[in-house]
Parts: sequence; structure tokens; C-alpha cells
Amino acid sequence: VQVVEAIEALRIARHQLPGRVGLVPTMGALHAGHRSLVKQAQAENDSVITTIFVNPTQFGPEEDLSNYPHDLSSDLDIFRDAGVDLVFVPDRFSIYPPGYQTYIEVEDVSQGLEGAYREGHFRGVATIVAKLFNLIQPDVAYFGQKDAQQVVVIRQMVRDLNFPLDIAVCPTVREPDGLAMSSRNAYLKPAERIAASVLHRALNAAASAYEGGQRNPKMLREIMHDVLQAESLARVEYVSVADAKTLRELEASSEEPALLSLAVRIGEARLIDNMLLPLSLNELGGATTVLGQVS
Ligand code: AMP
Repeated sequence: VQVVEAIEALRIARHQLPGRVGLVPTMGALHAGHRSLVKQAQAENDSVITTIFVNPTQFGPEEDLSNYPHDLSSDLDIFRDAGVDLVFVPDRFSIYPPGYQTYIEVEDVSQGLEGAYREGHFRGVATIVAKLFNLIQPDVAYFGQKDAQQVVVIRQMVRDLNFPLDIAVCPTVREPDGLAMSSRNAYLKPAERIAASVLHRALNAAASAYEGGQRNPKMLREIMHDVLQAESLARVEYVSVADAKTLRELEASSEEPALLSLAVRIGEARLIDNMLLPLSLNELGGATTVLGQVS
């Protein structure tokens, strides 16, 4: 694996890579979710580039930028063992040099869900992703369904700004008890880690009600709330049943595809998770076909 830090070195190394190039952007603190993105990128491309950059502009002033988990040497080992061709590890000042002043705002789809609780988050995400697309010029970029709204925001940006690439979405990788893998799970103390399976249990409860014929979005939200409320360590931020293409909250029954999503604080961790309905959409490629797609 070739590891580059400087933008000029990146440009040179990128142009030496043969064929179709897949990009997997990450913030490091790698886990099996990240590895699954790399695997899918390798299966579909000739070369794979990953990035490790904890992007300061997507963190709010009260958020966890300064204690975000990091272990660069173990991350590089993981990417080397996975057979990644090139890893870009820029420092903050090469990405945002003094005097930096250009940001990307994706309007409507950034407003709800995460956007309502994390002001400026998607402005930071869209900006760094656009910069990585310009620097790396991949043929296809891979993102996790775990961050479903991020996929919708990036897809909108790619359409609006005519980026010449495809977006692929990989299924959420989970721990045996259903907890979605996340770098932030490292913040959980043992009792909190056990409690954290409540997110997946809440999504599952709504999904089984749906499979049993429940199509009323208000009822589905209530089912998720009830499961979450039974867990005393969980503090709910939002519970949503939205149109998977537009992320507009569903009011009437029976529209699909739908996205169940939630954000919950447990101890120091803020955890998110989601599930698509019908459930078959959570399998390989399903999210790619619906999240953020224009109808
Ligand atoms: P992060 O390092 O948290 O910014 O994540 C980098 C990429 O990995 C994003 O596209 C995430 O959606 C994706 N990702 C994070 N956790 C998971 C997971 N449990 N399963 C699949 N993809 C994930």
C-alpha cells in the first residue's frame, strides 16, 4: 500500500493507478464496516483509494472532534492487509489552509434528521467529499447505508454539480447483537454497550410490525419510541419514518420505499441507525437503488 500525505503526491500517485478507480472515504478508527466498503470497491474496480481524514468542518462546536478515536498505524495495517492500493492521509492545513473560504450547502435534504440536530454537519460533509472527488477523480465512490442521509446529501450534490462519478451504497455491518458498527461505539462503557442494542431492537420492532401489515408511519414511530423508552440509559433525539428517496417525513400510510431512522444518546455516545422498508432493500445494492434517487 502506498501512503501519501501531500496533495501533489496524491495527484501523481492517483494518475499512476490503472483502470477504474473506486474511492472509500473514512475518518479512520476502522472497523468491519469500513472493510466491507473496501471489499465491495475492490470487487468492482481495478484500483482502490481510501482516505483517512477527521474532517473538522463537519463537527459542531459542542461535538467530539477533539476526542474522536484515532490509531493511524493500526488503520494503515488494516488497509494494507485489505490490499488497498493508495491511502491519502492529509493534514488539516493542506485541506483547509489559512484563508480557506469555500463551502458547499446542499439545501433541503440537509435540513431534517441529522441536520436538525447537527447544525452545519452536512455543509462540512459536502465540502470535504467534493474536495476529495476533485482531488482523486474516482469512477465510483462507496458510502455506508449506516449514514443514510449522508448518501442522500452526496447524491444530490453529485447531481447538482455534475460530478462525473457513481455513488455506491454498502449495507450496514452489525455486531452480533445488532448494534451497527461505528467508531463512536468505543465511547460506550460496558453497561451502555449492552443497552446500545436498543437501536436495532427498535428498528426491528417497527420492521416486523410493517411486515405484519402495519403501514401507518405514526404507529411505526410509536413502536420505535416504546422500545427505546424501555431502555433507561437511552436518551432519544429523533425517531423518523421518511420517504427513502426524498427523506420527507411520511404522514400517510403505505408509501414505500421508506426509511426508518433514529438517533439516540447513550452515555457519551451519540448513536444513529436506520433500516429500509421493504426489508429486502437492506441487502447488497438495495440502498443504492433508493436512497436519494429521483423518482
Ligand atoms: P466514518 O469513518 O464513520 O466517516 O465512515 C466512513 C464510511 O464508512 C461512511 O461511508 C460510513 O457510512 C461507512 N460506515 C460506517 N459504519 C458502517 C457500518 N457499520 N457498516 C457499513 N458502512 C459503515
